[in-house]
Amino acid sequence: MVDPPTSFHMTPDEFRRHAHAAVEWVARYYERIESLPVLSTAEPGATRALLPASPPRHGEDFEDLLRDLDDVVLPGITHWQAPGFYAYFPGNSSGPSVIAEMISAGLGVQGMLWSTSPACTELETHVLDWLAEMLDLPAGFRSDSAGGGVIQDTASSATLCALLAARHRAGGDLSRLTAYASPHAHSSVEKAVRIVGMAPERLRRPAVDATYAMRPDSLSALMAEDVAAGLVPAFVVAAVGTTGTNAMDPVRPIAEAARAHGAWVHVDAAMSGTAALCPEFRGMHDGVELADSYCVNPHKWMFVNFDCDAFYVADRAALTGALSVVPEYLRNAASDSGAVIDYRDWQIPLGRRFRALKLWAVIRHYGVEGLAHHVREHVALTQRLAGWVTAHPRLEIAAPHPLNLVCLRHVDGDEATQRVIDRVNASGEAFVTHTRLDGTLVLRVCIGAQRTEARHVERLWALLTSAA
Ligand SMILES: *Cc1c(COP(=O)(O)O)cnc(C)c1O
Repeated sequence: MVDPPTSFHMTPDEFRRHAHAAVEWVARYYERIESLPVLSTAEPGATRALLPASPPRHGEDFEDLLRDLDDVVLPGITHWQAPGFYAYFPGNSSGPSVIAEMISAGLGVQGMLWSTSPACTELETHVLDWLAEMLDLPAGFRSDSAGGGVIQDTASSATLCALLAARHRAGGDLSRLTAYASPHAHSSVEKAVRIVGMAPERLRRPAVDATYAMRPDSLSALMAEDVAAGLVPAFVVAAVGTTGTNAMDPVRPIAEAARAHGAWVHVDAAMSGTAALCPEFRGMHDGVELADSYCVNPHKWMFVNFDCDAFYVADRAALTGALSVVPEYLRNAASDSGAVIDYRDWQIPLGRRFRALKLWAVIRHYGVEGLAHHVREHVALTQRLAGWVTAHPRLEIAAPHPLNLVCLRHVDGDEATQRVIDRVNASGEAFVTHTRLDGTLVLRVCIGAQRTEARHVERLWALLTSAA
């Protein structure tokens, strides 16, 4: 009779073998990604129907799981890393990022305090200073100032943390505080207002101009109106690159208007901020030195896999004042000395992953010039596509296209535009999404996936024109 096993853990040798096989699977996935239909056609429930109703009583061979990736998982995957992915905003991954993510999981550290893994905190502080330099962000966001950067999971969390800091700084009665964001700002602003417990009507929507950018005069007028009504303007979001159309809210006049009332200014550059790697696109950041906080998502256009949002504040005390709660069991000499950063005080959860590793790996692999090269390429491809649209008799440009997003529509109206979207997506070769502008349907093409080359955009154009 065999003794029952005393350990069910994967041995180091088993780990080595299965991890190599998993890497091989991912590498092979990348090699064939172009042949897979970009948009999953799975019906609701299709993936679950392939899974056993109950979990296994006893452990299975890991090989069986790897096999199921092809049969169970892939049919229900929309291929965000495919060259024909033009939907939403990009959600890039890349070799160095994937490898670093695996190492981070391998280390499995919790970086909530400096003392729970000093390298986790210090590498994060350091690469965020690098990133600030790479994007030419103001000195007041660097860690050697009163401010500094922190990696949040998402831009949504950055917005929420900024609002919490703004509320902390404003003090007083929450019900009297007001927030301001363009009607085209990201939905996470409205969500943050809700989470904080402000009434929906406390979120004001200044008017936009013909480019869908916030009008500073309208912002000023709303704030003056609110002050006259006894309310307190506390939070203003400037979207540098709105999600719908990439409209650029003008940061400088918005920040000047906001500061006149003491309101916190948060600049949301989730996708477009990456373009500041290239000096020629930095005009969108004009005035950002007047902002209280800023965020950009390297997990969108900078080839770092989700999740990685770089969030900067000019006054870290406002943020930690809002979020720091110190229970006895987390007290330690390093924290008490004040000589270290404890990132748990810069975010909503306590625990945190070692995300700086993947940002570090990506910056070191590509170099600043390498990253800028790909940004320029995506912008150039986008501008070329926009030129073709402009010259086409049945398609038209629907909004300015300063970077890597083009919004277009069919001249015959919504039904015709919807038909174009449906046909392109049914081809399996490309995936585009939509938005509505002034009530009309618009097809969005965002070029920012790492594998998208000129030949793919030419193919997209062929699909668009044959559907139009
Ligand atoms: C994508 C996007 C967000 C939200 O991003 P998450 O990181 O997924 O929360 C916020 N703001 C803008 C402008 C965006 O484009």
